[in-house]
Amino acid sequence: MTLQFAFEHTYAALPANFFARVAPTPVAAPRLIKLNRELAIQLGLDPDQLSTPEGAEILSGKRLPEGAEPIAMAYAGHQFGHFVPQLGDGRAILLGEVIDRDGVRRDIQLKGSGPTPFSRRGDGRAALGPVLREYIVSEAMFRLGIPTTRSLAAVMSGESVMRETVLPGAVLTRVAASHIRVGTFQFFAARGDTEGVRRLADHVIGRHYPELAKAERPYHALLDAVIARQAELVAHWLLVGFIHGVMNTDNTSISGETIDYGPCAFMDEYDPAKVFSSIDEMGRYAYGNQPRIALWNLTRLAECLLPLFSDDKDKAIEQAQSALGEFAEKFTTAYQAGLRAKIGLSTMADGDEALVQDLLDAMTTNQADFTLTFRRLGDAALDADNDEPVRSLFIDPTRFDEWAARWRQRLALEPQTPAERHEAMHRVNPAFIPRNHRVEAVIQAAMNDDDYAPFEELLTVLAKPFEEQPRFAAYAEPPEAGQRVTQTFCGT
Ligand code: AMP
Ligand code: MG
Repeated sequence: MTLQFAFEHTYAALPANFFARVAPTPVAAPRLIKLNRELAIQLGLDPDQLSTPEGAEILSGKRLPEGAEPIAMAYAGHQFGHFVPQLGDGRAILLGEVIDRDGVRRDIQLKGSGPTPFSRRGDGRAALGPVLREYIVSEAMFRLGIPTTRSLAAVMSGESVMRETVLPGAVLTRVAASHIRVGTFQFFAARGDTEGVRRLADHVIGRHYPELAKAERPYHALLDAVIARQAELVAHWLLVGFIHGVMNTDNTSISGETIDYGPCAFMDEYDPAKVFSSIDEMGRYAYGNQPRIALWNLTRLAECLLPLFSDDKDKAIEQAQSALGEFAEKFTTAYQAGLRAKIGLSTMADGDEALVQDLLDAMTTNQADFTLTFRRLGDAALDADNDEPVRSLFIDPTRFDEWAARWRQRLALEPQTPAERHEAMHRVNPAFIPRNHRVEAVIQAAMNDDDYAPFEELLTVLAKPFEEQPRFAAYAEPPEAGQRVTQTFCGT
């Protein structure tokens, strides 16, 4: 047997209450639907061997690869604002860590691999639809340049899972910088286990923020660093129209990667109040609320770290508050810089923020498609003769015309040539995002017809989101009236 993972197990070496040792539950008839060959190579794995029947057994949890030390990680979390002291990996099992070709430690985790001591009432399984959705969207995020967990493989289990209906089961192999969450810190803090919090913080510093080990106050620096990464991450999300959908603290990664793709979605027409998730009735996790929620989640992290800050509680709180106070500026800086780039500004001037905001406001009232507006604006930047495709996205196109006149006055102050600007804008404004109706069509073809050609084609298109790809131009289009997806489901 030569199917080798060079596993290491730094997390499994932490104290026993950090996790439960549990093996995946074998599935009936694993069938590989997708292997991410490029990622396999990046992880030092042999894609040809992973494509064999034995590979499918490993990627479904039916067979444990040599050297695996399977564990389910313990964590807690605030779900929709309500604290649950024990969540944990209820349907995911960490096989181990590998060092990738860039020297980065990566978790290899099976999702949908069977029950664990943290399963509560769940079956430990995943349905095919959510597995395909996570595969597509996480890989699309990666190609958009946004920090994210990735998908190594999707395997059909050959078993059914019971949700509202009977659905085909599947297992996703997920790859992450780590699966440590804000909720992991909360697990120990909620038990008054300050030593646990400290061990976890030390592990996180060593793994994700090694430069902080030498800081004067490493735990304070850790909070600062997580705040900075989350601020940047959420800015990235907003700049591509992404709505995570379930920003619970257990779905907030300490490394700053997008994690736990559930009822996530990219918006078509711009609307800051947009919500897709069927369970988010109050719009807590609406598109425009995401920065505020990230700060709320980071505040929960700060609370966990207080005992490490100072024995003087008031002093610790004051220090945490001062760290959290940095979030708004970090977020705004990243978001505004991104917006400036999206409208083709390479320099800063007074009034830029108002200029962009006015466009966003016009897009909202005119139901303009978020992705296409910015993409086509890049063509309009080249030549005003190209305005029509943008302006026609607005219910009242004259609203765009008014804005475009001001925009061009501002562009006149820019050092770039129109050609340079056009190119720069196309580098930051994707043509292709995983639109809901496309994702849904892929899932339906897989479930109803066992047809994975649409899945493969969508992945091909999304692998080059910033390129024109004329052959796939239809994928850039928003849904027709009859194709619209208004709700997404977490599928747990
Ligand atoms: P999620 O909404 O997927 O982030 O999951 C929230 C919590 O529910 C986590 O502790 C999961 O492990 C657990 N969970 C979700 N689905 C299942 C399932 N089918 N079986 C067991 N636990 C689950
Ligand atoms: Mg989760």
